[in-house]
Amino acid sequence: MEANRLMDQAERHILHTYNRYPVVFDHGEGVYLYDTEGKKYLDFAAGIAVQALGYADQEYNQALKEQVDKLMHTSNLYYNQPCIEAAEKLCAASGLDRAFFTNSGTEAVEGAIKTAKKYAYEKDGCTDHEIIAMNHSFHGRSLGALAVTGTAHYREPFEPLPGIVKFADYNDLDSVKALVNDKTCAIILETVQGEGGIYPAEEGFLKGIRQICDDKDILLILDEIQCGMGRCNTMFAWQGYGVRPDLMTCAKALGCGVPVGAFVMTERVAQASLKPGDHGTTYGGNPFAGAAVSKVFDIFKERRLTEHVAELSVYLEETLEQLKSEYDCISARRGRGLMQGLELAVPAGEVSSKAFAQGLLIITAGTNVLRFVPPLVIEKEHIDEMKEKLKIVLDCF
Ligand SMILES: *Cc1c(COP(=O)(O)O)cnc(C)c1O
Repeated sequence: MEANRLMDQAERHILHTYNRYPVVFDHGEGVYLYDTEGKKYLDFAAGIAVQALGYADQEYNQALKEQVDKLMHTSNLYYNQPCIEAAEKLCAASGLDRAFFTNSGTEAVEGAIKTAKKYAYEKDGCTDHEIIAMNHSFHGRSLGALAVTGTAHYREPFEPLPGIVKFADYNDLDSVKALVNDKTCAIILETVQGEGGIYPAEEGFLKGIRQICDDKDILLILDEIQCGMGRCNTMFAWQGYGVRPDLMTCAKALGCGVPVGAFVMTERVAQASLKPGDHGTTYGGNPFAGAAVSKVFDIFKERRLTEHVAELSVYLEETLEQLKSEYDCISARRGRGLMQGLELAVPAGEVSSKAFAQGLLIITAGTNVLRFVPPLVIEKEHIDEMKEKLKIVLDCF
C-alpha cells in the first residue's frame, strides 16, 4: 500500500519526536479528512485547534491563491499591505493596540516574555525580574517558552532554562499572591488551559490576577493560542470574563492553516517596551501570512462564527454531559465553547486510538483527558455523528 511505503520512508528521514497515528492524510473537505486510501474521518481535532474553518474553504483558499501569485515575501524591512490590514483587524477584534506577527505560537510567547522583561528593565534598569507562570501550563517548546511551561517532563532534560520563573497553581489566587514580590514583571497563563487538561480559568481567579497586576504594575500575559480565535464563544476567551490583558499571544487558528502567530499589546506597554532593534523576524507577518490572517478575520465577521460557536457549544456540552451520565469511565466534563474535555478513568490514548479506527479524530490532553477541539464550522449533525462513533468506542471499556 502507498500509505505503508510513505510511513516507512517517513520513519527513515523524519526525526522521531512524535508517535504518529498510522495514517497519511491526502485531502480534506469541510469537517472531514480523507487518507491516501480514500477512508473518511470526522475531525474533532482540527489539526490541534488550528482549522477553525475546516478544510477546503473556497473563499479562504481563493484569497491565498491570489496572494501567492502576487507576492509571498519581502522581509520586515519594507511595509506590506496584507500584514497592515491583518494587524488592524487583529487589534480591532481584541481591543488591543499593537501586534507583532510571528511564525508560531512559541515565538509569540517568546516575544511576549521579551516585551515584559524590557518593560521592567525600562523602569528600573535591573535584569533580575521574575515571571509567575502556572503549574500544568503549556506555552511552547523553545527555551523561553519552555521556561514558563509548568510540566516537568517537558522541561527537565533542557534545564537550566532562561529567566527566573516561579510556578503557582491554576485557579488558586493565594498561590499566586504568595509568589508576587517587587521583582515580579509578569504573570503568564492560558485563559483556558489546553494541554494541561482543558481547565477554564475561574472568573474570580482571573479578576484577582488582574487586580494584583494593576496594584503592582505587573504585566498580565494571557496565552490565547489555543483558546482564542472564537473557540470559547467570544473572539478571545478573556473577552468572556471582562478582564483585559496587557499582552496576549495568539496563533493556531489565527491563520487557519498558514503558520502564523502574534503577540499583541496595549499602547501603554508598547510605548514602554520594545524599540527598533529589540526584536525581529525574517518571515513574521509576510504578505502571504498577512493575507491569511486578514481573510480569516473577514470570514469570522461575515459568517458570525463566534455566534455559531456559542450556539453549537451548548449542544456539544449537552451531548458530552449525556455521555458522562451513560458511561462510568467518564468522571468529569470541563471546558468552554468548542474547547471541551472529558476526564476518563481509562487511558485517553487508548480511547483516541480506537476512535481513530472508527474514523473519528479526537485527541488527548494529558494522560486522562479526551480533548474536543473541532473546526468551529461544525453543525449539530457532526456532533451527533461524533457521539455515535464515540459510543461504539466507549462500549469497549
Ligand atoms: C500550541 C500552543 C502553544 C505553542 O504553539 P506552537 O505554534 O506549537 O509553537 C503555546 N501555547 C498554547 C496555549 C498552545 O496551545
